[in-house]
Amino acid sequence: EETDPLEDVRPKNPVKPMTATEVKVNVSIPEAAHRAAVTGADGVGLLRLEHMILSTNKTPECYIRDHGEDAYVEEIVEGVRTVADEFYPRPVRVRTLDAPTDEFRQLQGGEDEPKEHNPMLGYRGIRRSLDTPEVFKHELEAFRRLYDMGYDNVEIMLPLVNDVEDVLRARRLMEEVGIDPDKRSWGIMVETPASALCIGEMADAGIDFASFGTNDLTQYTLAVDRNNEHVAGRFDELHPAVLKLIGDTIATCREHDVNTSICGQAGSKPKMVRYLVNCGISSISANIDAVRDVQHEVKRVEQKLLLDSVR
Ligand code: PEP
Ligand code: MG
Repeated sequence: EETDPLEDVRPKNPVKPMTATEVKVNVSIPEAAHRAAVTGADGVGLLRLEHMILSTNKTPECYIRDHGEDAYVEEIVEGVRTVADEFYPRPVRVRTLDAPTDEFRQLQGGEDEPKEHNPMLGYRGIRRSLDTPEVFKHELEAFRRLYDMGYDNVEIMLPLVNDVEDVLRARRLMEEVGIDPDKRSWGIMVETPASALCIGEMADAGIDFASFGTNDLTQYTLAVDRNNEHVAGRFDELHPAVLKLIGDTIATCREHDVNTSICGQAGSKPKMVRYLVNCGISSISANIDAVRDVQHEVKRVEQKLLLDSVR
């Protein structure tokens, strides 16, 4: 790692640097919204819905059975609203439900979950959502209510998408609950090599953004289980294959005017930040504690690019 020449003299609470690349923040639970907002981040790059559901200790199906559909929708509305209020008008990218069956199995109602040998390759993310539209539509209904309340800073992000078919089916369901996809900001996570390789077609289907989920993109590109300690040493988000998929995807997205972002853990790593800014990514979303450092790293890389261009 390069040493930072300003390390010792930098003020404790420096002014937030202005950068062309936006620096956003990942928010895991609504309770962290305030702490995330005061970092000065340009928005939320990832708000995971599953923590709002998992914290009720019930699977979605079980929650709906016990409390009714409306209570389920309101649970999501209230969780997202806490964050959307704190950040308004800065954008908040909310990811639809993406918990693997082995996580759902721990909860009430978990006995109904399918047993899978490879949950990470299985029934999760957009696959499950599209297979259970009656449950997925409640999530979309929550977004519709938020839009009706005026939260136009809320964006919809779809996890584990593989191809344009996934995108078009999700788009249709949005329309069915009364969301106009042409008026709202929505997009996909790039978490599989398939999605990186098919990004051009998906751009043509009307997505506004593509966000790299490097935790999964690394796992699936390198065939290294992210939860398996025996291969943990091989889990490398900076592997040339992962970087090539990311770089090529950003280039295609730029041609199609699709906004690009990263919301995986690697977005908090200086080396990844340098690579992404050089590729021309639109925004980087980091953990709350890393936002300040990423802001400064982005500034440094942008200044260097600017100087290189005029020399
Ligand atoms: C990712 O895959 O990088 C990501 C952000 O999603 P999760 O870690 O929730 O799978
Ligand atoms: Mg993921």
